[in-house]
Amino acid sequence: MLYSKIFGKTKKDSKKYDSANATLLIKGGFIDQVMAGTYTYLTLGLRVLNKIENIVREEINTIGSEILMPSIVPQELWAKTNRLETVDVLMKTTAANKLALAKNSSEYVLSPTHEEVVTPLAQKFNLSYKDFPFALYHIQTKFRNEPRVKSGLLRGREFRMKDLYSFHTTEKNLKEYYENSKKVYLKIFQRLGIGNDTVIALASGGSFTEDYSHEFQTICETGEDTLFFVKSTGIYYNREVAPSLAPPINNDEKMLERKDVEGKGIKGVDELARFLNIPIEKTTKTMIYEADDKRIIAAAVRGGYSINEDKLRKAVKCSVLKMASPETVKKVTGAEVGYAGILNLPKEVEIYIDESVNNRLNFECGANKTNYHSININFSRDLALPKEFYDIKMAKDGDLYPETKEKYEVKKAAEVGNIFPLYTKFTEAFDYKFIDQDGKERPVYMGCYGIGPSRIMGVIVEMLHDDKGILWPEAVAPFQVHLIGLDLKDETVRSKINNIYKNLEDKNIEVLYDDREGVNAGEKFSDADLIGIPVRLVVSKRTGEKVEYKKRNEKEARISSLEEVLKLLISN
Ligand code: ATP
Ligand code: MG
Repeated sequence: MLYSKIFGKTKKDSKKYDSANATLLIKGGFIDQVMAGTYTYLTLGLRVLNKIENIVREEINTIGSEILMPSIVPQELWAKTNRLETVDVLMKTTAANKLALAKNSSEYVLSPTHEEVVTPLAQKFNLSYKDFPFALYHIQTKFRNEPRVKSGLLRGREFRMKDLYSFHTTEKNLKEYYENSKKVYLKIFQRLGIGNDTVIALASGGSFTEDYSHEFQTICETGEDTLFFVKSTGIYYNREVAPSLAPPINNDEKMLERKDVEGKGIKGVDELARFLNIPIEKTTKTMIYEADDKRIIAAAVRGGYSINEDKLRKAVKCSVLKMASPETVKKVTGAEVGYAGILNLPKEVEIYIDESVNNRLNFECGANKTNYHSININFSRDLALPKEFYDIKMAKDGDLYPETKEKYEVKKAAEVGNIFPLYTKFTEAFDYKFIDQDGKERPVYMGCYGIGPSRIMGVIVEMLHDDKGILWPEAVAPFQVHLIGLDLKDETVRSKINNIYKNLEDKNIEVLYDDREGVNAGEKFSDADLIGIPVRLVVSKRTGEKVEYKKRNEKEARISSLEEVLKLLISN
């Protein structure tokens, strides 16, 4: 393809964005930002995206059948699974003006995921045990009302996803398929050039199960996720599910006299610790929650930690947990929000205390009295030592893995894929059952498996770039060869390079030929480095009958005959 003809060129004056992928992909002419979170893929960018999606497609075809489901779908489908009101990224479409409204006033869900479409679809066709197992997938654009879009292609409000859904007659069969899908996923990331940095991490399985889901996480500084790695077991936990043991603190002191201290309007533990002149670790954060079964819950963690609501919900054994309203807080603690503590709470409040609160002397907690904090609290003296301490905190750097007491290695990562055992959550909602050999109806088991090709494109750039530009892995590079023509005004050079271009194309080598006249060598070289195609060939007056060959990831160029270069390219 001729660089002079493709739409979207490098942009020298392009600004620096919040991430390497946004900066380099926009500057390199791969994508154009329409607004934060939505992008146009220009010719070069679309070639990369298509290559990523085709690798995903080739591998997923070995375990599923490709279909294409729509993006706008009836709200009733989402009401059926009770997700219309509960999925916090759900968007809908409405007619945008009076004229449009007069024609059709219906509102539709803009799909962020497709369980609500694929489950009733499967139900229309496959009911007999003979039809199982089977799996359907599509690669398509998703919409999510993300609160904060950031890092270029890593988090958009519109993005590409491959989502696969599998259907089974037994839990065992689902689990077998699920385990095999992990292998297929790892192969995909290997082919995409990020395999060596991509790990499987345990993550939340959702509110309906105690099981983990499995995330495919590429270790990378720009990633939004935090992984907790246990070296001795080789297991990665996503922060949201990492079991945690707080590091012990120094307790080399005597018990002091308990006091209530007035501290009006102090915000946050840092300010409180400073005000009381105690370390943050001696403060206590107590939060009041309401469970869906109306129980009132007080949860306490050591200052500096936050409460992990998923862990808390599991400890409390309820299905939905929400922060108590200021009125409820006032009713049960007798104080305004911000002064709750674990002392003297009424009997009807169930108290869950994190293990990090234990083993401290002279600690602080809210006094359950507006503007007051109790200090020098000690278990056994000021309040009974609870029968059980829990792990209800969000793990943080420095924490220990409870089983081996080793310190976690903490790493930033970007989630590039996620697989979930869904069991019967969705098939039950749609009353999707199969007929077994004896003519009996039985529940259908289901799994779902996502991969984000557009995020992956961003992650690849995050992983593979230098100060000059991108270094695309061969499998996803927009072209295999960047052919640079210099001295093009010279007829002999031009016809020689045209021949080489034709020769390469005839051999099915994908070539981007920088045929621009009036652009100097330095500029063409820096564009080639920015665009990041794996091999650069230069033909000029100076190279004579030969060709200069240089790999993007190597410093040295070599001058070779066209035959040698072709050999190198074909053996690559
Ligand atoms: P995250 O935790 O990052 O918000 P998620 O767990 O909600 O993602 P899934 O529903 O598991 O995402 O989606 C499957 C895949 O789609 C993810 O693994 C990721 O690669 C991609 N993806 C999800 N949200 C976005 C987004 N806003 N922008 C780009 N890709 C995304
Ligand atoms: Mg996910």
